[in-house]
Amino acid sequence: MAQSSTETDWVSRFADEVIAEAERRAPGKPVVVASGLSPSGPIHLGNLREVMTPHLVADEIRRRGIEVRHLISWDDYDRYRKVPAGVPGIDESWAQHIGKPLTAVPAPAGSAYPNWAEHFKAAMVEALAELGVEYDPISQTEQYTSGVYREQVLFAMKHRGDIDAILDQYRTKQKPGGKKPQQKQVDEAELEAAEGSGAAAEDDGSSSESGYFPYKPYCASCGKDFTTVTSYDDETTELTYVCAEDQFTETVKLSEFNRGKLVWKVDWPMRWAFEGVIFEPSGVDHSSPGSSFQVGGQIVHIFGGEQPIGPMYAFVGISGMAKMSSSKGGVPTPADALKIMEPQLLRWLYARRRPNQSFKIAFDQEIQRLYDEWDKLESKVTDGSVLPADAAAHTRAVRTAAGELPRTPRPMPYRTLASVVDITAGHDEQTLRILSDLDPTTPLTSLDEVRPRLDRAENWITTQVPADQRTLVREDADTELLSSLDAEGRESLRLLVDGLDSHWSLDGLTTLVYGVPKVMAGLEPDAKPTPELKVAQRTFFALLYRLLVTRETGPRLPTLLLAVGADRVRKLLAA
Ligand SMILES: [Zn+2]
Repeated sequence: MAQSSTETDWVSRFADEVIAEAERRAPGKPVVVASGLSPSGPIHLGNLREVMTPHLVADEIRRRGIEVRHLISWDDYDRYRKVPAGVPGIDESWAQHIGKPLTAVPAPAGSAYPNWAEHFKAAMVEALAELGVEYDPISQTEQYTSGVYREQVLFAMKHRGDIDAILDQYRTKQKPGGKKPQQKQVDEAELEAAEGSGAAAEDDGSSSESGYFPYKPYCASCGKDFTTVTSYDDETTELTYVCAEDQFTETVKLSEFNRGKLVWKVDWPMRWAFEGVIFEPSGVDHSSPGSSFQVGGQIVHIFGGEQPIGPMYAFVGISGMAKMSSSKGGVPTPADALKIMEPQLLRWLYARRRPNQSFKIAFDQEIQRLYDEWDKLESKVTDGSVLPADAAAHTRAVRTAAGELPRTPRPMPYRTLASVVDITAGHDEQTLRILSDLDPTTPLTSLDEVRPRLDRAENWITTQVPADQRTLVREDADTELLSSLDAEGRESLRLLVDGLDSHWSLDGLTTLVYGVPKVMAGLEPDAKPTPELKVAQRTFFALLYRLLVTRETGPRLPTLLLAVGADRVRKLLAA
């Protein structure tokens, strides 16, 4: 779909700004946007904003026919800081690897991947493919160990005095968010531990008696970064370091040495300049002075570059991730979200909110309402009544410049699908029968028509809905309850049972269940509801739920009746 002047959503506005800035900074070159991800453990669903924000902007630029690269830097040459809790296949012995690059730490036991970083990257790579995110991956391990940044490293060492002077302006101030603005798992204890362990100093390099050096080697003996540079010769590039872990020391020629990296606060702006990044958002913790984004904005000039346009994005929360599915230390990942929702829905959540707006991704009942809202939007798009900004968000959700994302051919309501698989416990034949009854005029011929949405709904029911909220249809009638009913109660059930055959569709049964209390009140079936009638309807519905599923609530009644089947409904309601 072509862009138009009516697409005035935040993505379009950033795209305008980024294109103009790219034209000013590097005319004729592809526009570069960037994200950074640290595979230090399971990558949190909240961190997806780090990728989706530039993705949506890059995609808009691409739709306009302008060449654009979305770089995703895997910060896999960062040090292993701590052993994350709750990760299967590891134990305390992984602590012995703290201080090594993430690509030098063994993967959890049983992993198909060669190291820690690759193991945790893999799930994210898969999720990004499903989400239609097109990007150029950059492994910082590969970049550093192959000497790609050699000149930048030597340059930074040569200008260490200038870098030190910039960093020094902030050293006495409060230290805000250091490492790249990722929404690591929200873990106050972890943050405190990091502060206390000297992680703050590690972000900008530390000074020794021989001065300040923005570069840290990984020790040749133990492979860790407990090293201090003790001397450096600008002429010969001879660098001597000593390791605090094992007292190992050696002198290397930095012009030939590839086993170390620039400290974070220098590394990041170096890459902005090196790659010519025009747009790279970061977390709100980076809005304060002294944060690596702010300091980087000064340091980048030393490298002859400019700071990217960098909106601060707000926190993305999760609602109701069930405990039973938190096998990965309670950290929901994008892959977890994609198990219960289609990629379009997840893309839409990001597209419709400006980066500075926080929102939640629903793993609880809220997901049903969200899907209702999404379906309503789709029908507005179809009938042309959609507002321009909503249309833009919809377009960004369902397709990228490369084309439309695979979609469910017949998107029946998620809430209905969830109710049906809840009742049938995933029995395919039964599910097909019930779904066909929903709209008898155009019955479903195969469950493939409702996939993958059906599978997502089924995953949601089986992994996120607690057992006590699942629906169990009664085997036998509750004779005790039935015999306790007064004449009015019996009559209402008789009206319902008598109407089943002539109302056997979703719409028909909806009319029937709301209609019975009206008839009982002496009203016409299409009468407007009064407060008294609403009370009568609620009472009637509660009775039906108790008789059918032994609870006061459950899936919507028309869906439940269809799912239970007319014969069984008669059996359970026969007073
Ligand atoms: Zn060592």
